[in-house]
Amino acid sequence: MKTVNIVREQNIKTLNDYIDKLDIDYIYVPYEKAEGIKVQLNDSVLKGQLVYQDNDIKRYSSVSGKVIKIENKYIFIKNNYKELTNNTRARKTSDISLDDFNKYYHNDKIKSILSNDINNLYINAIDDDPYTFNKYMYLTRNLNDVAEIINLLYKLFNIKRITFVIKNSYNSLLDSYKVNINYLKVEDIYPIGHKYLIDKYLLKSSSDYLIELQDIIDMIYEIKKNRVQTEKYITINGDIDDPKVYNVKKYCSLSELYKEFKDKDIILNNSLCGKLIKKEQIIDDNTYSIIIKNKKKINEIECSKCGLCVNVCPMKINPLKKDSRCIACGLCNYVCPSKINIYERNQK
Ligand code: SF4
Ligand code: SF4
Repeated sequence: MKTVNIVREQNIKTLNDYIDKLDIDYIYVPYEKAEGIKVQLNDSVLKGQLVYQDNDIKRYSSVSGKVIKIENKYIFIKNNYKELTNNTRARKTSDISLDDFNKYYHNDKIKSILSNDINNLYINAIDDDPYTFNKYMYLTRNLNDVAEIINLLYKLFNIKRITFVIKNSYNSLLDSYKVNINYLKVEDIYPIGHKYLIDKYLLKSSSDYLIELQDIIDMIYEIKKNRVQTEKYITINGDIDDPKVYNVKKYCSLSELYKEFKDKDIILNNSLCGKLIKKEQIIDDNTYSIIIKNKKKINEIECSKCGLCVNVCPMKINPLKKDSRCIACGLCNYVCPSKINIYERNQK
């Protein structure tokens, strides 16, 4: 497997700054099909109310408030800052039986993994992009919830060992682990956290399995908190003075969270090949990080056929040709001496 030490080259430090930014005026819930919209203009909505559904895709309001507009593929909801919700009671995980677990938790794929005799259950807690620290921050701030779910999994299923996989640069985490959780530190090389690669790197026998930290977070909400997840962590990082991990309302606009965009490029999710976006970006389920970089004129020149992009590709495919096995890591862009955006060229 080929990986690159991006962290050392770009001198990126582990982020320890965190902020709750939940006081937003509006949310914009996206919809693809009008028939999936579950609310009408001027309706009052509760926080956690289902407002859009298309088969398995379900979107819930992250605020309580009023529907003020439905157009251009978005449901606009004005926050009334009352946080009104259907009262649901948090549950004690120590009281949860296997039947309860199966009733409350909805991910059939993970339930089928858990039904096996498991030697090692690995939990991928690696933030893939070098600028992103959401999983790291979630773990440091929610260790007790995470530990409760891990203890429940040990109690209900036949699992010998559960191990969180983290980067060896997540130093302060190590001190926090006073709870009964194992962790495995892997070298901070990119893109080791990608599911396909970590799978190959870790799973040594047919009784080893890998799941994602988000699967544990889903269990925290569906089993313990007994409510839908209406907030999410995103990292805002890059050439800025105040990089932080933000806890935000789902479907808020980036422009309400952050203002300093003058002479900057705004890049979505991946610092190596993420697309350029505008400050009106809606923070949806697929938004993980916003990377704000000084505007740079890139002088792309002709391909010299040096082969560096082919050598570096972790998927062992030819980056110069479109290939569905591409994992969008952007390493080909990163090493190209001709500054060609190879990944983007393949998307056309
Ligand atoms: S072709 Fe895809 S997988 Fe290979 S280096 Fe480029 S972006 Fe990564
Ligand atoms: S790294 Fe850039 S210059 Fe070298 S072969 Fe690939 S596209 Fe061409």
